[in-house]
Amino acid sequence: MEKLIITAAVTGSLVTPEQNPGLPVTPEEIASAAIESAGAGAAMVHLHVRDPESGRPVHDADLFADVIGRIRARSDVIVNISTGGGPGMSFDERIGVIPALAARPGLKPEVASLNAGSVNFGILSQRTGEFVMSAVQENPWPELKRFAETMSRHDVKPEIEIYEAGMIHNAVVLESIGALRAPLHFQFVLGVLGALQARVDNLVFLKNSLPPGATWSVCAVGLEIFEMAPVAIASGGHVRVGLEDTVFLAPGVKVRSNRELVAKIADMAQWIGRPLATPEEAREMLHIRNAAGKEGDS
Ligand code: ZN
Repeated sequence: MEKLIITAAVTGSLVTPEQNPGLPVTPEEIASAAIESAGAGAAMVHLHVRDPESGRPVHDADLFADVIGRIRARSDVIVNISTGGGPGMSFDERIGVIPALAARPGLKPEVASLNAGSVNFGILSQRTGEFVMSAVQENPWPELKRFAETMSRHDVKPEIEIYEAGMIHNAVVLESIGALRAPLHFQFVLGVLGALQARVDNLVFLKNSLPPGATWSVCAVGLEIFEMAPVAIASGGHVRVGLEDTVFLAPGVKVRSNRELVAKIADMAQWIGRPLATPEEAREMLHIRNAAGKEGDS
């Protein structure tokens, strides 16, 4: 079996600093969380950025550049940025950061997330029975194609986010029209309210539905990642973990840092007997062509 790639999703766009004070917000906090996660075994970091004052999610090329510059000065971890953004962000805002960063020497992300369809996203309060958040994460076909082609043009490897089984076929369609290039890399995002639940049988069905030669990783909302991760580790997949996805380390135990979550997955891998990939090994396994974003852009 290939080595395990752990991705640390350090901040995301939905968790608030009030929910967990360990959530990194400023560029330095986000960069430090990324570097600490790499130290604990992550080969890749998945980034969003936030307004340093309010902590609100924003999709701003200057903030991304600040974070990526800080990370690259101290670590060779693979930088993966979101193009899913957050609720209320426009398509142009979400994808615009790719050309904006590609235009800055040494700051182009190597990987970017590419949501492969629309999701009827929500958060339900178990306590009150109220929907505390509801947002349709819209990704119509013309935008899917434009996002994929923009990444391809700038040699940024798409990480295809799969919330529902049919989205795998969407990616295959995009490949058939030349918008995506094989081998494809997938991230299964399970347990989001409005999409596929985080269950072992769902994960097995998804991985068995992938096109030949594809690589895959799984993340899940809340504590369910700790049920999905061992399945992925034991069956040749990869794992994403981080405060973007869960603010708990165990039932009733709040996470203090992203590092702790990465360390928990690294421990699982050790128990199962699967070594961790370094960033350099992960680049090779994922066929990332623009190592460290330093090669010429077109
Ligand atoms: Zn994200």
